[in-house]
Amino acid sequence: MDFKQYITIVENYPKEGIRFKDITTLMQDGAAYKAAIDEMAEFAKDKEVDLVVGPEARGFVVGCPIAYSLGTGFVPVRKAGKLPREVISVDYGLEYGKDSLTIHRDSIKKGQRVLIADDLLATGGTIEATIKMVEELGGIVVGIAFMIELDYLDGRQKLEGHDIFSLMTYK
Ligand code: 5GP
Repeated sequence: MDFKQYITIVENYPKEGIRFKDITTLMQDGAAYKAAIDEMAEFAKDKEVDLVVGPEARGFVVGCPIAYSLGTGFVPVRKAGKLPREVISVDYGLEYGKDSLTIHRDSIKKGQRVLIADDLLATGGTIEATIKMVEELGGIVVGIAFMIELDYLDGRQKLEGHDIFSLMTYK
């Protein structure tokens, strides 16, 4: 399937100079959304994944259906102050800003095999922070799956050594 035809490029959102890749037009098409999730789950199916971890909010949109497809659990990574129980946190830089991410301290057991999923790889800051937290809890990152990779921002370099899959690449 040509997934790119379902992505809408929004100029100057959320800031001047950013060409935002809007995935909601893919999500609202049942056949495209299903095919996208199926391909991402296919990447992970032989990796003996125990848990899928995804950062809010679009990481839930891709991570939850992948977890359902693989029959694994899903662990949310959220902005500071959003998770109700004890968390660990890490600061990170975004393509357009800075923030801190958190994960429940008891969400991953030592040695569990984790697939990280998100909608889009830009600078790699979000996923680098997510990897740090997964590893701090003793999880093993066995793969990282994106719908979209922005090749020109070189996020892949930050994630070196990891098995990365992206459904679409923008040069
Ligand atoms: P990074 O940390 O790799 O610089 O940024 C990736 C995060 O920012 C992802 O979680 C993603 O949701 C969000 N993001 C950055 N640029 C875009 C974009 O153009 N489209 C979408 N859908 N998300 C973006």
